[in-house]
Amino acid sequence: MTKHYRITLLPGDGIGPEITSVAVAVLKRVGQMLNLQFEFQDALIGGAAIDATGNPLPAETLDTCRNSDAVLLAAIGGYKWDSLPNNSRPERGLLGLRAGLGLFANLRPAKILPQLIDASSLKREIVDGVDIMVVRELTGGIYFGQPKGIFATETGEKRGVNTMAYTDSEIDRIGRVAFDIARKRQSRLCSVDKANVLEVSQLWRDRITQLASDYPDVEVSHLYVDNAAMQLVRAPRQFDTIVTGNLFGDILSDAAAMLTGSIGMLPSASLGEANPGVYEPVHGSAPDIAGQDKANPIAQVLSGAMMLRYGLNEPEAADRIEKAVLTVLDQGLRTGDIMSPGMQLVGCQAMGEALLKALEA
Ligand code: NAD
Repeated sequence: MTKHYRITLLPGDGIGPEITSVAVAVLKRVGQMLNLQFEFQDALIGGAAIDATGNPLPAETLDTCRNSDAVLLAAIGGYKWDSLPNNSRPERGLLGLRAGLGLFANLRPAKILPQLIDASSLKREIVDGVDIMVVRELTGGIYFGQPKGIFATETGEKRGVNTMAYTDSEIDRIGRVAFDIARKRQSRLCSVDKANVLEVSQLWRDRITQLASDYPDVEVSHLYVDNAAMQLVRAPRQFDTIVTGNLFGDILSDAAAMLTGSIGMLPSASLGEANPGVYEPVHGSAPDIAGQDKANPIAQVLSGAMMLRYGLNEPEAADRIEKAVLTVLDQGLRTGDIMSPGMQLVGCQAMGEALLKALEA
């Protein structure tokens, strides 16, 4: 029986359209192989949406996203819109999308591929075999807590204030996402906090500990964030799934991602409760190489694989795509961003064609 999925495509700006067309071709091909039918619908976001409608996130785009099973986003932004005021820039479209879909969980995998191990800034023996998923809370914590602002004091000095706050329910919902993700991986979850100093972290640790009783098959550990940062660069293989709050997650997910050394290879996902998730590469719109057939489409293709695994529950299709990526790297094909001596330099389109061939092999 053929399964049918509605996917909203948000190609956005810069290299977005080029890498999206590769990802769509790959998804179509894997769909044909496994009886999955994808109905793709394009919608506008970012600079492209500003040019067409004056709004970086037209209401129609949000509606289209809400009515789909998953959203595949590329990237937004570029020189052309850099001089616009902050509240009408392309980035507003992204923030609006996250808020509009209630995306509270951000998933950032960091996996070392043996073919690219030398791109890491750490020694081969330290990063070999690293496969980490950072689950970051995205809509709470210090970036949103009240009070916030810069206030005048009685002495005439100014005082800057932000508030780190989490409620039971906010911790529980990100915790459950993380436990479920850990189950799809090696069933090991490390919760990162600063419970030795922060009350908000004490509550975080209590709730995660309580949740653990619902997931007896998942091994849970807790680390203070300073230790977690150290362990990530000292012995990153010890981690499987990490769950943490907004601020700590912001920092740790970038550090974990950079263990892999190559921005053109990194996918991500943002998940909510009621609405579809958004799957997108970690990199930006790369305006410096846009339209030149130089972009690496692999992060976008792997975002499609994440969409299949975590959004549509189609792990076999995800496995096939991830395997095809390894195959083309084994063949020595490289886009400019991951090029190394002895390898064959290819463009975005040729990489896409090689991926399609690898899928069929
Ligand atoms: P960037 O990630 O776009 O580019 C950084 C460098 O990496 C550039 O040299 C670029 O050519 C290269 N690069 C990035 N992706 C690549 C790929 N797939 N293949 C080959 N090379 C790649 O970051 P930036 O230069 O800081 O930002 C450019 C624009 O992107 C800005 O307008 C920024 O606001 C926007 N941006 C958007 C997102 C997003 O949509 N989520 C994220 C970051 C930046």
